[in-house]
Amino acid sequence: MREFSFSVKATDGAARLGACHTPHGVFHTPAFMPVGTQGTVKALRHPDLEDAGAEIMLANTYHLLLRPGDELIARRGGLHQFIGWRRPILTDSGGYQVFSLAHRRVITEEGADFCSHLDGTRQLLTPERATDVQARLGSDIAMVLDECLAFPATHDDAAISMRRSVRWAARARRRMLELRGGAGSGVAVCNPGQAQFGIVQGGVFPDLRAESADSTVEIGFEGYAIGGLSVGEPNEQMYAIAQQVAGRLPPEQPRYLMGAGTPDDLVECVARGIDMFDCVMPTRNARNGQLFTSQGRVNIRNARYAEDDRPLDPACRCYTCLHHSRAYLRHLFMAGEMTAGTLNTLHNLSFYLDTMRRIRDAIAFRTFDNFRQEFLLSASRLSLDS
Ligand SMILES: [Zn+2]
Repeated sequence: MREFSFSVKATDGAARLGACHTPHGVFHTPAFMPVGTQGTVKALRHPDLEDAGAEIMLANTYHLLLRPGDELIARRGGLHQFIGWRRPILTDSGGYQVFSLAHRRVITEEGADFCSHLDGTRQLLTPERATDVQARLGSDIAMVLDECLAFPATHDDAAISMRRSVRWAARARRRMLELRGGAGSGVAVCNPGQAQFGIVQGGVFPDLRAESADSTVEIGFEGYAIGGLSVGEPNEQMYAIAQQVAGRLPPEQPRYLMGAGTPDDLVECVARGIDMFDCVMPTRNARNGQLFTSQGRVNIRNARYAEDDRPLDPACRCYTCLHHSRAYLRHLFMAGEMTAGTLNTLHNLSFYLDTMRRIRDAIAFRTFDNFRQEFLLSASRLSLDS
């Protein structure tokens, strides 16, 4: 079984070009992980995802734990085997969905007590259970359970929550080491080479972020994530916290900014030393007809595209842009055809993954700052519709 490792190949300013080796192969950083909530990126087949350049997928523990269940997946040999995806997978801890989807949730020192949004069954997600569930799923990177604080929060609330997350992280790590030592009786470990990442919390407060980063690093993980950002705070605040925390984390380990963001956010946070990203934005927006292009954002529902024969993005080489016109994409969307979701998702993910590829090339050639200036000046943030 190959083990997890990470190496930085080149740097340009704070931006890093790296490679992450996992039991299911390598992914290159900075990396964007498409979100495959239920073990699939909605509307796409895995080969489409691979063709678009996805080297790693994210799957949601909360959803898979409730349906079809982690034990059922373990009996199929783990998530890779079950869903037929051979490349790396990262699973979250389930915490974020407990806080955003579950009913009647109560947080105690023990864990998060909640009722399933599917059938109301009562569940207790503890740091140990989140670790066990991800061991059964057999992802390549598992995340510790953390508390997701609502924004805005007071300094006192953020401090209490952050310190509980640190205690939970220590428990999750202890459990992980037990499983690795073969002491996790009753837990089928589907991927013995699984890595575990800690998560830095602390809201928008630099002193709490520093304390959280130091305490989490002291516990010791294979990589570190920054949680609790991209939850409604101003962009500049997100960038500042990402920069502060990245600078405090061990340089030889991967840094993952959870839940971000827009294409601009990716470029800006790579510039501050972030290596990994995930976000539902490209896939969710695609299904709503909101498309990212090199010339600006397109809302394909707009009547102005009804007889527009141009490709969605002339600079894009994805299947959608090579074969179809804006007029056809608008028609499919207005007619409620499932194919609209597929073609739109394929394009949006291609745009995100191409952007990451261009970022990696720019770091390799030490031209990242030029790339960044041009990217931010380009129309990518504008709407073509107005
Ligand atoms: Zn395209």
